[in-house]
Amino acid sequence: MQNHIAALLAALTINLFTMAIALPLVMGRVNEAARRAQWGVVLHAAGWGLLLLSGQMDSGGWADRLLSSASMACISGSLVLLGTAFDLWCGRAASDRWPLFIAVVMTLGYALGFSNYQFRVAWANGLLALQMVMVAAVLIRQPAQPVGRWRWVLVVSLTGQMVVTAWRGTLGGFYPESFPSFFFPHPVNYAFVVIANATTVLSLVGILLAHRDEAARALERLASLDGLTGVFNRRAWLAHAQTEMAVSVRYDHPLAVLMIDLDHFKQINDTRGHEAGDRALQSVARALQRSVRTGDLVGRYGGEEFCVLMNHADSAAAVAFDHRLRQHMAHTATRELGFELTYSAGIAMRLSPADTLEAILRRADATLYRAKAQGRDRTLTDVGPHLLAA
Ligand code: GH3
Ligand code: MG
Ligand code: MG
Repeated sequence: MQNHIAALLAALTINLFTMAIALPLVMGRVNEAARRAQWGVVLHAAGWGLLLLSGQMDSGGWADRLLSSASMACISGSLVLLGTAFDLWCGRAASDRWPLFIAVVMTLGYALGFSNYQFRVAWANGLLALQMVMVAAVLIRQPAQPVGRWRWVLVVSLTGQMVVTAWRGTLGGFYPESFPSFFFPHPVNYAFVVIANATTVLSLVGILLAHRDEAARALERLASLDGLTGVFNRRAWLAHAQTEMAVSVRYDHPLAVLMIDLDHFKQINDTRGHEAGDRALQSVARALQRSVRTGDLVGRYGGEEFCVLMNHADSAAAVAFDHRLRQHMAHTATRELGFELTYSAGIAMRLSPADTLEAILRRADATLYRAKAQGRDRTLTDVGPHLLAA
């Protein structure tokens, strides 16, 4: 019977090593979260490898102490890495201070108290169980971005592993006669190897699904951005603008839209070449992004037309933005491009709760047209024929 447990532990270790080697190969280029998860699996595999190796040494000797302590450091460290990977995949910052502290304290306590079997089993398993609770808590907390069902699969498997780990710690610490070693045919050891094998498979599934979610999000981000300038494309800008409109109506905040068209842009293309035209568009997009407030939406509406939606902005705020942008264009953009570039713009405000985005855009466009007709290089608002900037 003892051989069954040893064989299942060996299978677990082989599976972990296979994952440690295969994941970097199949996942290709990865972000920080996936890299942490990959290293987590490597450490986990190393931890079990070292633990099995320690079993081959003189029990209680220095080699046993060294290999077993290194094994605890690896397994504990792998939980730190997995926890922070899930933090990142849930759209939060990686919070590793406490998990890292527990991992260090656990390893040190284990190495120092190694000669006391009861202490070391209770200490290591107790703190590992605590770390598993913390990783599960990371997954249970409301994510900051949409996360698939994989997180619940991992919560269930982690909880199972946490229960048997705590159970082992309790038996080893307080009833050592019934739990003399890992390989002893005790129900908790059977439960552990079965759950640990299942958790390994589920972790593999979870890591790959989290990675797929991440790739899908990256693709979605890419599909909503304009390839040349990096601001929202028209479709994405309109979609986000509709949401902002709804928020503005619900909370009765003012909302302004600024529509911009570069002046004599055909001429720039004709005299300086299409590439200079492209650089000019990129420069304008940068100027726009530097001039807006957080939460404002910048989009490329058409060829050399841009739109900015400003939530919480009355017409004075929209005019202030226009001034900032003109200053930016006059200094930075001119320096970057080596020639002057001006624009005409129309500002339209949301007038009533029944107002629609389409109507606001129509008014901004008509106002922009008037600015062009009045001689370009100026911004007008739809509330009157005032010349706001020239
Ligand atoms: P106006 O002052 O009346 O706006 O004059 P304009 O020359 O800017 O006229 P219009 O707005 O009709 O011209 C748009 C030009 O923008 C035509 C097109 O060649 C150029 N354009 C549109 N998209 C791009 C682009 O991606 N790159 C470059 N280089 N040029 C573009
Ligand atoms: Mg145009
Ligand atoms: Mg133009």
